[in-house]
Amino acid sequence: MGRGGRRFLSLPVIAVISLIGFVYYCTVFVFVESWLGLRSAAGICSALVFSYLALMCLASFCASVVIDPGQVPASFVPDMEGSDGNGVRLKYCGKCSSYKPPRSHHCRVCRRCVLKMDHHCLWINNCVGYANYKPFIIFVLNATISSIYSVVVFVGNILHNDHKFIERASSKLFNVAFGSTVMILSILLGTLLGWHIFLMCHNMTTIEYREAIRAMWLARKSGQRYHHPFDLGPCKNLSSTLGPNALKWWCPLAVGHLRDGLQFPTSRQ
Ligand SMILES: [Zn+2]
Ligand SMILES: [Zn+2]
Repeated sequence: MGRGGRRFLSLPVIAVISLIGFVYYCTVFVFVESWLGLRSAAGICSALVFSYLALMCLASFCASVVIDPGQVPASFVPDMEGSDGNGVRLKYCGKCSSYKPPRSHHCRVCRRCVLKMDHHCLWINNCVGYANYKPFIIFVLNATISSIYSVVVFVGNILHNDHKFIERASSKLFNVAFGSTVMILSILLGTLLGWHIFLMCHNMTTIEYREAIRAMWLARKSGQRYHHPFDLGPCKNLSSTLGPNALKWWCPLAVGHLRDGLQFPTSRQ
C-alpha cells in the first residue's frame, strides 16, 4: 500500500466515510422512503439526486486523502534575484535545511515542507496543499449541499407525517440524533465553504490570511495599504485554483491546470 493508501488507516478518515454512508442510508432508505416512497417518480428522482451527491462526496473525499498535496523537489533552486522584486520574500526552512518555494510551509505533522500549504486536516489525515486543494474544496461543497439536502428531506418527512413519526418513542431518539447531526453539519460545512470561497476569491491560503492580518496592521501603522502579492482579481484567482474551464470546476480530478507549484504569478508581474 502506498503512502496515499495508508492515509485511509486513520480513525477520523474511517469516521468520515462511515458518516457519509450513515447519512446516505438514513436520508434515502428512511426519510425519502417514508416521505415520498421509493416507488414514486418523485421518490426515485430524489434518491438518484442524493445518490449522485453522496458519490461525489465520497470520490472528492478519497481524492483529497490520496493525492499528495505537493513536496518540494530536491532539485529546487530558489530564484534569489526575482524573489524580492515580486513582493515575495525568500524563506528558509530550518527543519528541512533548504529554501522553501513561495507559498510553501513546513507541516509539523507531515514533517516536511508542503507546496502552497493551507492547513493540515485531521479529517483527511493529510495536508491541504497545492495539488489536493481543489478536491478538498469540491468535497466541502458537495458535503454542504448533501447536508442541506438531508435537512430538507428530514423536515419534509416530519411535516408530511404530521409529526407522528417522532411521537413514537422508539424513533424519537433516532430522529433527534439524525436531525441535529445534519443540521450541525450544514452549519459547520457551510461556514467552512464560505471561508474558503473568500480565500479563493483573494488567492490566499489560511496561513497567508493569518500572515496578512499582521502585514495589514504593519502597513496601516506606516500609512500604507497592504496588498496580497498573489491577488490577481477574483476571476483569475478562481481559475488558478479551480481551472480555466468553469464546466470542469465541479470535477475534483480535473486538475490539468496545475503546474509544479513552485512559482506563482504576482500582481506586480
Ligand atoms: Zn520544511
Ligand atoms: Zn501536514
